[in-house]
Amino acid sequence: MRTKLLMANWKMHGDSAANAALLGALFTNLTGLHRLTVVICPTFIHLPQVAAAQAGSALKLGAQNVSQHAEGAYTGEVSARMLADIGCSHVLVGHSERRSLFGATDAEVAGVFAAARAAGLCPVLCVGETLPQRRTGETEATVTSQIVAVLSKVGIEGLRGAVIAYEPVWAIGTGESASPGQVQQTHQQIRQFLSKHDSEIASSISIIYGGSVKASTAEAIFAQPDVDGGLVGSASLDAAEFSAIARALDHAAHSGSSVNGSLQPDPKNDSQSQ
Ligand code: PEP
Repeated sequence: MRTKLLMANWKMHGDSAANAALLGALFTNLTGLHRLTVVICPTFIHLPQVAAAQAGSALKLGAQNVSQHAEGAYTGEVSARMLADIGCSHVLVGHSERRSLFGATDAEVAGVFAAARAAGLCPVLCVGETLPQRRTGETEATVTSQIVAVLSKVGIEGLRGAVIAYEPVWAIGTGESASPGQVQQTHQQIRQFLSKHDSEIASSISIIYGGSVKASTAEAIFAQPDVDGGLVGSASLDAAEFSAIARALDHAAHSGSSVNGSLQPDPKNDSQSQ
């Protein structure tokens, strides 16, 4: 069964007091939700605060970015080993804001992915198309080319145990989520593409959706068979909203919506199975 994963991307928000209040509310609200993994990604400087607060809880710690370099004269950078050392388990790789605002190329994203792997972190590879690319029917080609860039660096085995986040650029921070059908279609395309390389990795990798996820839209998105969770920006800064999204994912996990996904035969239609 694939891991159900909910990630909070706090982006460049927060301070000590606001983070403490948000974490306190999350600890209260998320108690009892055992079917999902929740990862909080604060700014670099707030990682120690969240690490201290989440110690002993079920919450995990993630970073929003990491250097592709292991060590050296790279002023302002943070290495994957440093993140692992302070307790991070996950790191976002190639978030669209890194690509569009800070010029991260496919080659750099692949280097970051490899560096995260080498340090034992779980890389969460963010892929997604722009609105013009969707309008011209290039969604699948865009997303697969972003994955190919990473595959060419780490090979298909490098994706084992990693996570892919499908985040259409036009849906991030805009309030306009992709529809459940659009999300399912692209997640299925990603899984089918990966299955050409390794069917076991394709069916076991967690693919999460990000782009204006809200409590009101989460349930329908999480009910899709190839959706294994969410990457949440704005709504993760609101404890009540984020907790409602977590409950929607916990509910989807209970219903078993993505236990099999689109690559597995439906036992009801499989004459071989008993
Ligand atoms: C994100 O930052 O990855 C994201 C999905 O943001 P938002 O939920 O605000 O669209």
